Amino acid sequence: MNPDVLMENKNPYIPVKCRIVEWKRESPDNFTITLDLRLKHEPGQFVQVSIPGIGECPISICSYSEEHLKLNIREVGNMTSAMAKLRKGDSLFVRGPYGNGYKMGQFRNNNLIIIGGGCGVAPLKGVIEYVERHRDDYKDVHLFLGYRSPDNILFKEELAEWRKKYHLTVTIDENVHGEFCYNAKTGFITDALKNSSIDNGNKVVFICGPPIMMNYVIQVLKEKGFNDDQIFISAERLMYCAFGACCHCMIRGKFTCIDGPVFRYDEVKEYEND
Ligand SMILES: Cc1cc2nc3c(=O)[nH]c(=O)nc-3n(C[C@H](O)[C@H](O)[C@H](O)COP(=O)(O)OP(=O)(O)OC[C@H]3O[C@@H](n4cnc5c(N)ncnc54)[C@H](O)[C@@H]3O)c2cc1C
Repeated sequence: MNPDVLMENKNPYIPVKCRIVEWKRESPDNFTITLDLRLKHEPGQFVQVSIPGIGECPISICSYSEEHLKLNIREVGNMTSAMAKLRKGDSLFVRGPYGNGYKMGQFRNNNLIIIGGGCGVAPLKGVIEYVERHRDDYKDVHLFLGYRSPDNILFKEELAEWRKKYHLTVTIDENVHGEFCYNAKTGFITDALKNSSIDNGNKVVFICGPPIMMNYVIQVLKEKGFNDDQIFISAERLMYCAFGACCHCMIRGKFTCIDGPVFRYDEVKEYEND
């Protein structure tokens, strides 16, 4: 099957009813749902998910498949808590896809460095699945994934597979259980990055995570000689419409919903440091 023939959503402004075919807990406050939706999209794009009578919120696509669409969600408020109560067979509504994702075609023949923190690993999982399907197009792939504690590690099953295929480093800020855990190193992701042998030769870097983590990661990359235009970040802002009308996600002339959420770092670094 050709992964490039995913179904085109005829009208991305109209919510489509989807059924949950799998609901999986990843960590105490995080879960992944699989929807019976075949949607043509780029890795890094997002959808607007809604439940009538509850609300709507943007969620990144965390898969790359012609069979289904996966979303990884952290429970923080009304919508995400309502989604946590749904189970296999229940329905919700999805519109999209929206935004600018990772233009994977432009990065062919490059080495990829993929750096995720916490829930920020979710959109990058879509990139990893894309690379798996187009493996010959990319050279070395390094994954640096950081979590707060062993309990917060996401995609535990996938980690074992990724370790076989890529250069994988997992870190946990604190090993609260004091045990060997998913081959994770204790410490911040920035320490692992500093201690690694990566250099800036023919590489592009994708980063998604909390703003403070992204800022420190970029600092380390700069120390290692990376240029701003080698670095791509996924930004998250409060947004409602997702198509550039409500202006909630707009910062200094850029819409996170249509110009982003994936930006080349030199395009946004002024306001990212605000
Ligand atoms: C492009 C994009 C992709 C996203 N992808 C994911 C994802 O893959 N998984 C996931 O769990 N979440 C993701 N989010 C965040 C998610 O959309 C919000 O957490 C969402 O609003 C939660 O809805 P809620 O009704 O549960 O919470 P609410 O009750 O609406 O909000 C809970 C609290 O979070 C604040 N808040 C809401 N959204 C944001 C935001 N974007 N930035 C800062 N504060 C905010 C609210 O003001 C409130 O204080 C994404 C956001 C964006 C913009």
